[in-house]
Amino acid sequence: MTFKPIPLNPKKSRNLWVYIVITLLILGVVGLFAYRYFFSSGSRRWLDFSAFKQDRDDYAEILLLPGMRCGDAPFAFPTTGAIFGLWSQSYRPGHIHAGLDIFSGTEPGVTPIYAAYPGFLTRKADWISTVIIRHPNDPLEPSRQIWTYYTHMADDQGEESFISSEFPPGTNEVYVEAGQFIGYQGNYSGNPDNPTGLHLHFSVVKDDGNGSFLNELEIKNTYDPSPYLNLAVNHNDNPESFPICQDEITFENWDLVVEHE
Ligand SMILES: [Zn+2]
Repeated sequence: MTFKPIPLNPKKSRNLWVYIVITLLILGVVGLFAYRYFFSSGSRRWLDFSAFKQDRDDYAEILLLPGMRCGDAPFAFPTTGAIFGLWSQSYRPGHIHAGLDIFSGTEPGVTPIYAAYPGFLTRKADWISTVIIRHPNDPLEPSRQIWTYYTHMADDQGEESFISSEFPPGTNEVYVEAGQFIGYQGNYSGNPDNPTGLHLHFSVVKDDGNGSFLNELEIKNTYDPSPYLNLAVNHNDNPESFPICQDEITFENWDLVVEHE
């Protein structure tokens, strides 16, 4: 018996090459989009995240502090941390972030949070980790009412709330000064099986026109916090770098609560 090589059909062989080239092209385009997504929308900022958590002191230039006011910003900064997640940033396909994610790099229940602006604080009866403050006169547009929203102030399981005991569940319209202690940063996401990284989520929420606030999860119901803080916190304007004050920094004379070790 002799071995006879099967001749390669030249037509089939050409088709195979066409398939290979098309497949490589598709993979290339998908890969390019994935790369751009990670480094553009997802942002390079996240690349610093584990190092920041390891040693916050190495990142003094991006660390913002409570009571810090950038230039003539109406709001002073509400907590200690770096803003890794900006307004209008996408964390995953189909998601657009409606607030700021400020990471302290500490532990849950350690880093204090203060009211950024005076107003009337409400904590609904079923809110474990959240408060909202009504500001009857928007400092940028006094004819309108706005709200500031603070969340994740509980442990991962939602068993221990880190909100100040001055604001128990069911608190309604209690006046707070700027700089008043609200609670500590936590990592409760609303789902004990999937806690968030430790941070404060802070957003500026639109009024519904009937004395209540709109759903703060949707970006269209929120305002770009940039002019309120005088920081570049709109991801579209600042896709890669950390928001740091480009103006004169002053500090409010707030009665600060000590961050425990
Ligand atoms: Zn957030």
